Amino acid sequence: MRRYVFLCAGILLFYVLALFIPAHRLEPAAGMVKQEHVVLMECTGYCNCWYCTGHHKGDTDYGRTFFGATAGLGTVAADTNLFKPGTRLYIPGYGPSVVSDKGSGITGNKLDLWFPDHATARAYGRKQLPVQVID
Ligand SMILES: [Zn+2]
Repeated sequence: MRRYVFLCAGILLFYVLALFIPAHRLEPAAGMVKQEHVVLMECTGYCNCWYCTGHHKGDTDYGRTFFGATAGLGTVAADTNLFKPGTRLYIPGYGPSVVSDKGSGITGNKLDLWFPDHATARAYGRKQLPVQVID
């Protein structure tokens, strides 16, 4: 009986304390990604080279994404049926990225991450990563 009273008092104390925690501390901070916006993606690397893009240095569209942006670190090709161009992502080990390209083989849960050179892109390999979709 005594143990039960202590248990009840404990639970009551917990709720009373919870009331004093400011509401904003119970909500995710601004800019923080909610767990449901984390998606498991298969990530590979690409670069500006002919092998990766089909464009040669000197071509007018060399180094440009499908949407006309200049490819750089953070440039990511995705399935635009899933992610609209401009979608901001956070890719673990790669960093903040923006969906700004698309590729023929990039469908479904696949992402192609831009790297400055072919060796680095190839060395990146293929990784299953929990990618945060920011907006
Ligand atoms: Zn390449």
